Amino acid sequence: MSGVRIRNLRKSFGAVEVLGGVDVDVREGEFCILLGPSGCGKTTLLRIVAGLEGHDGGEVWIGDREVSLLTPAERDVAMVFQSYALYPHMTVYENLAFPLKARRAPKAEIREKVEEAARLLELQDLLGRRPRELSGGQRQRVAIGRAIVRTPAVFLFDEPLSNLDAKLRSAMRVELAKLHRRLGATMVYVTHDQVEAMTLGQRIVLLHEGTVQQVGAPRDLYERPANLFVATFVGTPAMNVLGGVLRSGAGGLVFEAPGVRLSLGQREDLAAHAGEAVHLGVRPEALVPVAGGGEGEVEGRLELVESLGAECLLHVAVGDVRVVARAGPDWTGERDAPVALSVRGPGVHVFHDGRRIGGGGAPAAPPTP
Ligand code: ATP
Repeated sequence: MSGVRIRNLRKSFGAVEVLGGVDVDVREGEFCILLGPSGCGKTTLLRIVAGLEGHDGGEVWIGDREVSLLTPAERDVAMVFQSYALYPHMTVYENLAFPLKARRAPKAEIREKVEEAARLLELQDLLGRRPRELSGGQRQRVAIGRAIVRTPAVFLFDEPLSNLDAKLRSAMRVELAKLHRRLGATMVYVTHDQVEAMTLGQRIVLLHEGTVQQVGAPRDLYERPANLFVATFVGTPAMNVLGGVLRSGAGGLVFEAPGVRLSLGQREDLAAHAGEAVHLGVRPEALVPVAGGGEGEVEGRLELVESLGAECLLHVAVGDVRVVARAGPDWTGERDAPVALSVRGPGVHVFHDGRRIGGGGAPAAPPTP
């Protein structure tokens, strides 16, 4: 087992730069997620670590070895793809045994390792079947088993759950998290699905257009996004973003935009930006409908109520922006009716030039003596 260190990695396809100097540190035994929208370069990065793709500059280290110039086989990594890539004419047992046979491992060792992987992944009863006789989830388990038998230094997963339906995907997420806990192995996992990243990852590396936007635990990215890209990419429904101005008044700073007036109090962290255009980011759970016709910091018109069972999502037009607020399951309202929303809690942020410059909530009142 080893960590992975990536330094100043650069890669272009023709004139298109796909990775523009990427640094990533995956700790030994860590479940690390490479997250980002389609085309951000995450699969290319994983393939470079595996040795399946060349690079134009920078270094890849696995443990204390620089592997940049080694072949995939010399790197001691196992990759699991979205497309399972099982041998259709072989049984599950033969598929699992294949990497060990290729290494000319002794028969007894092959049997022992295959049986152990089958037990871990609950494939014992399926060892005699061929891939076409398996469900999608079972096939993916065989693909993961084929990686496990090799006991690699690092597991590399490229969107392994994307071909599964939503229910199976969430079941497999749990399986993978348990597997990681049992094996304690270093795993690097590529996905564009932020829910998968938030639930599986110990740390997330969020990529956009070939550059790292932020690295941190899932909660760090959710609670302290470094910039507007991270803020709006992580979280469902996405963070609401309102463009406006920071004004200074008698009671401190105020954020103003059409339909919005939010007092932020005396704020040293934001004071230097008084009078400037900023963006206010508000998580849907920090926008709370005001009951009984009261006033809120945000005033808008109701466009739609989505009833999700446990809660309602209110879609509200505020000036020419649409925001989403969370409300209780019984919330009702007429279309086009005025809605007042109050802004509460920690899910409020202020951004300047796209970068987060502070939390938006007024600082807690000092304790009364
Ligand atoms: P997805 O989630 O859609 O797989 P990704 O973030 O994994 O996206 P990559 O597959 O790494 O993105 O691709 C990054 C960019 O590089 C894309 O614009 C893609 O079109 C381009 N690209 C990838 N492979 C090649 C190639 N062999 N030749 C030319 N361009 C490529």
